Amino acid sequence: MELKAVIGLEIHAELKTHSKMFCSCKNDFEEKEPNKNVCPVCMGHPGTLPVINEKAVDMVIKTGLALNCSVNETSRFDRKNYFYPDLPKGYQISQYALPLCKEGYMDIRDKRIRIRRVHLEEDTARLIHSEKDDCSLVDFNRAGIPLMELVTEPDIASGIEARIFAQDLQLIFQYLGVSDADMEKGNMRIEPNVSISQDGVMGTKVEVKNLNSFRSVEKALNYEILRQVEAIKKKEKIVQETRGWDDVKGITYSQRSKEEAHDYRYFPEPDLPPMEFSKTHINRLKLEVPELPKEKFLRLKEQYFLSDDKAQILVSDIDLGNYFEAMISEVIHWSGASKIDKEGTRKAIQIAINYLTSDGVGLLKGKDFNKESFPITPENFAEFAIILFEKNFNSKMAKTLLEKMFVTKKDPSEIIEEEGLNETIEDEGEIDKIAQKIIEENKSVVEDYKKGKQNALQFLIGQIMKETKGKIDPKIAGQILQKWLK
Ligand code: ADP
Ligand code: MG
Ligand code: ZN
Repeated sequence: MELKAVIGLEIHAELKTHSKMFCSCKNDFEEKEPNKNVCPVCMGHPGTLPVINEKAVDMVIKTGLALNCSVNETSRFDRKNYFYPDLPKGYQISQYALPLCKEGYMDIRDKRIRIRRVHLEEDTARLIHSEKDDCSLVDFNRAGIPLMELVTEPDIASGIEARIFAQDLQLIFQYLGVSDADMEKGNMRIEPNVSISQDGVMGTKVEVKNLNSFRSVEKALNYEILRQVEAIKKKEKIVQETRGWDDVKGITYSQRSKEEAHDYRYFPEPDLPPMEFSKTHINRLKLEVPELPKEKFLRLKEQYFLSDDKAQILVSDIDLGNYFEAMISEVIHWSGASKIDKEGTRKAIQIAINYLTSDGVGLLKGKDFNKESFPITPENFAEFAIILFEKNFNSKMAKTLLEKMFVTKKDPSEIIEEEGLNETIEDEGEIDKIAQKIIEENKSVVEDYKKGKQNALQFLIGQIMKETKGKIDPKIAGQILQKWLK
């Protein structure tokens, strides 16, 4: 008997519009003060009427187009009825029979994952359960924020595939500028459905909730697949249910079963007109779809001779990628001005990318890359790369220079002038003297060295670099040290 995991995802993302879905309240996910961005419409007061936010509609259509979907020329909103304290109207305005977009796909690695639909709805309020005060609080700031829902066909076969799909999708949302799609902040939420097929016959599915990171999506699915396979092997029945994920224990647990499932009594929203989309409108939105991650990956590789790894780093971080391209156009400009040939320009580009993605990003100490956090201008970074290409700077000096640029925001030539960084010590007699001095001052380390401790030599080289502010090539420093240590 062949057992296979079958997974389909339901993914929600809050759209980055200025106002909410059906009223003019501010759509501000970051608002800390509870119940600030509210009005009678999003509070569900009787007698109020919703008005469609066209920007949100266009964002969903654009997303659908980017995901190879077809757009329903006629689409409409439906009421999804249920009672819950986070839902002031007693129903959610969503889409059922005629979603905005349908039947698309996205390729991950070499596999095609079909997308069943992408539709638009409104988010619910946020409930805060306070154990301390023994009560539940409602914050309606989130109520009515435009929410895009994407549903895949059950084409995903493992936890890792689900994770890759979700991460690639997140990046597409960010490229399109439709959502920040931040899982930690909860503006992107993933609910996987998972079952086990036996010899190609589909099994009963389980829905998993409470996943707030890509890591937990993968882990929860791996756990759930194993749980179901073991149950099947023991001839136990899988019940259709919703299960929660406990990230600490690393297990899923039953939340509610199919018997308690809702009948939402969907019907067309009578307060909103159906939507019609002309070919012209859809074509205009098609033109607004920017270069997408996969295309950018291929272009960066080809245009700048990048490895897969480097190209992927630049594709995965939009700000870093934009910075890189602005910087490289400066490198090319400088190369032209300094009469550097094609091969040389290529080398300068390699230097630039290597220093940007390692030491450059390293200066941020884990912070996100953006204009505020990374104060070195693309022009100055380009000049830095050209200097490294033209002068024989060792990596220690290069790092010092980069750090100074980061802290002082000055251009590299100015720093080199001020710090005397361009004066390298090459005179062997002088290096001899420094090496002897360092040996003299570090007797115990020298003893360690004699006992065979390899990092003792590294330490002494480090001392020389410190003494000379990195003006000696560490390789040469090592050679001369060893000569004297003998
Ligand atoms: P429901 O009506 O219970 O919401 P849907 O048919 O709308 O179920 O599907 C919801 C999600 O579950 C979709 O992403 C779909 O691909 C996935 N799905 C459907 N059947 C299965 C199954 N047997 N195993 C895993 N996922 C499934
Ligand atoms: Mg469903
Ligand atoms: Zn409102």
